[in-house]
Amino acid sequence: MFVQLPVINALLGISFLTTGILSTLLLIRSRVISSTFLSITSYGATLWILAMLVFMNVDNPLIVIIATKTLYIAGAVVITGFIYFSNGFISFDLKKNLKLISGMFVLFLISLFYIIFTDKVIDGVEFLNGEKIVNFGDFYYVYGIYIILGAFLGYYYLIKSFGSVKDKLKERQLIYIGLGTIFSITCGLLFDIILPFTGNFSFYWLGPVLTTIFVISISYAIFKHHLFNIKVITTEIFSIFISVAVLVDALIADSRLELILKLGIFVIVAIFSILLIRGVINEVSSREKITRMARSLKRANVELQKLDKAKSEFISIASHQLRTPLSIIKGFISMILEGFYGSVSDQAKDKLEKSLESNERLIKLVDHLLDLSHMEGGKMKFEFSKISLIKLVESSVEELELQAYKKKLKFVYHLPKAKEIFVRADEEKIRQVVINLIDNAIKYTAKGKIEIFLKKVGDKAVFSVKDTGIGIERGGIKHLFDKFIRGKKVARIWTEGVGLGLYIARLIIETHHGQIGVKSKGENKGSEFWFKIPIFKNDKGK
Ligand code: ADP
Repeated sequence: MFVQLPVINALLGISFLTTGILSTLLLIRSRVISSTFLSITSYGATLWILAMLVFMNVDNPLIVIIATKTLYIAGAVVITGFIYFSNGFISFDLKKNLKLISGMFVLFLISLFYIIFTDKVIDGVEFLNGEKIVNFGDFYYVYGIYIILGAFLGYYYLIKSFGSVKDKLKERQLIYIGLGTIFSITCGLLFDIILPFTGNFSFYWLGPVLTTIFVISISYAIFKHHLFNIKVITTEIFSIFISVAVLVDALIADSRLELILKLGIFVIVAIFSILLIRGVINEVSSREKITRMARSLKRANVELQKLDKAKSEFISIASHQLRTPLSIIKGFISMILEGFYGSVSDQAKDKLEKSLESNERLIKLVDHLLDLSHMEGGKMKFEFSKISLIKLVESSVEELELQAYKKKLKFVYHLPKAKEIFVRADEEKIRQVVINLIDNAIKYTAKGKIEIFLKKVGDKAVFSVKDTGIGIERGGIKHLFDKFIRGKKVARIWTEGVGLGLYIARLIIETHHGQIGVKSKGENKGSEFWFKIPIFKNDKGK
């Protein structure tokens, strides 16, 4: 013997323990029939290792013969389980597979019969120079062919499954389990079926030991690729252990009363164990679900952010490209109108003025888009300083007066009672908001009047514009300050708008720690847009 017996024993012992534990875990946790078959294969391997341990260490002839027969029974168990497993790995359909299952089972029973009750397979065991030599019966080669062909049938099914597996996880499991089983079974065939047939028993023990490869590959597939959850398995082992201990304790009770009491305790422990296992399974599966959801949300969020950034960049580039030519056009038209390039006829003047107006609107739109991309890209710079809101509103009112008069609207600015209203603000940005609100009031009012108010209420400066225009329909107010939102019917009145002015105004006012809003009694009943921002601290303007 090349390897010392204690080493062989140690290897067999380790293999026995690991295979035994793993087979049990597989059996307990199997949710699909294929893992039950895998556990049968694994139990067959456990039996094989155990029988080999006995065969190598015991000299009692009867026990040796029993152990030898068990070796070959275990071989038949392994092969039958392996064929069932590989055939049902992708999907198991009892009706479709009934012939194979029953056929293999009959073959298994026949081999069992010949091994146990006759000497046709195992004829006896001889002791030769301290080594045990198995004498085979006349039908040993039939048994050998049965096992070898069975193994090849299993390989065939596994390879076939590999071709049709679609699920990535299953594919990985199949690789590990498949390679492990194919390797172990091939070694088993070689060392325990073929070599012994030629009278060589030197590697007899190696077959069972190498099933450890099979054990390792299954363990790897299980723990690495989450065939089963380790937390659930630990809970199950723990619960089974406690329940069995309590039951054994009950069964060795001295009196009937003690027996009844302890059985009662066992029932309670068993019920709690089941509840505990269920709880852990639920927890584990909901945690898995949450992790999956969180992962897909994260992915979606990253995609959205990318999209948003791309959009902002596009707007920014497009706007910059538009802004320069528009300014040049504006400059040239103004110069032509002012007579820089000779006199202009009245007819041409009229057309040029209209072009200038349209150009101006386009510039405003581009400015809005630029503002938007700056705001959203976090590039909008605010320069805060102490400013007089009264002066700001007055100059804005003056700027827009003409526009209102052109539309024959009454235009009233109600002077504030306070002499001064100072705020800490970015002057240009607040002017933009004030102008936008007044401009909108003029745009969306066909007749009637526009009133502008500036007040001090508590520690806030309140600005508002009231008009008698188209008003806002019910339910229309809610999203009015969102991006690209326009009223349902405004497109007919003011075609150039895009619904950005109020959105930008809201962002500006919010940056000033203020609020913006609107009141309207409904369609065609006018509206009142307002904003309020804190007045300058330490200076209440009194
Ligand atoms: P735009 O005027 O370019 O459409 P705004 O953001 O300034 O964009 O306004 C958004 C929408 O709010 C307008 O399309 C309109 O429906 C509504 N709106 C704004 N001001 C008034 C107003 N004074 N009266 C009625 N509706 C208004």
